[in-house]
Amino acid sequence: MDMELSGTKNFLRHINNPHLAPIQRIQSTLLHEMQSFAREQGFVQLMPIMMSPFTDPLNHDVYPAEIQYRTVPLKLTASMIFHKQLALIRQDIDRIFIVSPNIRLEKPENKTSKNHLLEFSQFDIEMRDAGMEDVMVFLESLLVEVFRRLESSVTEELSILGRSLPRLKAPFPRYSSDDLRERYGEDFYRLISEQTTVPCFVTNFKREFYDREDPERPGTYRNFDLIYPQGYGEALSGAEREYLYDDILRRMKELGMNLEAYANYLDVARQGLLPRTAGAGIGIQRLVKFICGKQNIAEVCLFDRSVASDFVF
Ligand code: AMP
Ligand code: MG
Repeated sequence: MDMELSGTKNFLRHINNPHLAPIQRIQSTLLHEMQSFAREQGFVQLMPIMMSPFTDPLNHDVYPAEIQYRTVPLKLTASMIFHKQLALIRQDIDRIFIVSPNIRLEKPENKTSKNHLLEFSQFDIEMRDAGMEDVMVFLESLLVEVFRRLESSVTEELSILGRSLPRLKAPFPRYSSDDLRERYGEDFYRLISEQTTVPCFVTNFKREFYDREDPERPGTYRNFDLIYPQGYGEALSGAEREYLYDDILRRMKELGMNLEAYANYLDVARQGLLPRTAGAGIGIQRLVKFICGKQNIAEVCLFDRSVASDFVF
């Protein structure tokens, strides 16, 4: 066949892009350093699961990603949030991390997004008997140390990309979303990312039921995002989790959720077995994009899974 197909032509141009090899080397080293650091800090690495009767309901609408095995309808993993909580039922493991592939069939609204993929991976962590501050401190030390290690281990790759890594320093600034909204208006999230020169934490968002509402201050949520500087946007989301049956049920009902799919999870919660945990999930491809100084997340992926992708391979 001598007809030239534009899909394969674009793919071949992309895969031969001179920047793609240094990007993949940086990603490989990054994954190694993140996993090493977490293990050094007492975290145990677990394997991801890819399907379950239930998954993260997410804070926004996506197309359903479901398959059927015999008579059981299964959802593809949107995040391992509930399985992280369930894993920590074991009293003899108290800090876990997972390199977790997630499927999220984003709606066409995100077609022009330079930050959204239909499949991506999270560096997902959860800690028992921890508060949000403990998680934020861990994340700061993880990023500071990993960036420090990368500076000497991928010097050549960064210089091919013309990128110098920001030298991170803990603690990162912490803002509350209420203060930012008052100061910058509804678009505060984008504005803070464009204006800040260092990564910063923003706390208190009303979103999924599993992020804990502050029992002392109803209407305030014990959760946070880390936002990259230079307009790179959201780096990660984290929170203390709802773990008490009555609170979980109240929050799910508030959001008008269908409880059926969560029956087994609710049963464990009803027995008082869900541990008190806090955790977070870092989007790996977004982190690679930030480290490499690329504009579009598709540029750091070997196989394009952005919302506009045409699935050539
Ligand atoms: P979430 O639980 O939705 O906050 O997702 C956790 C992290 O995964 C986010 O902070 C992002 O870094 C990353 N992430 C979420 N959705 C996507 C997506 N569609 N494509 C790439 N990365 C994503
Ligand atoms: Mg988020």
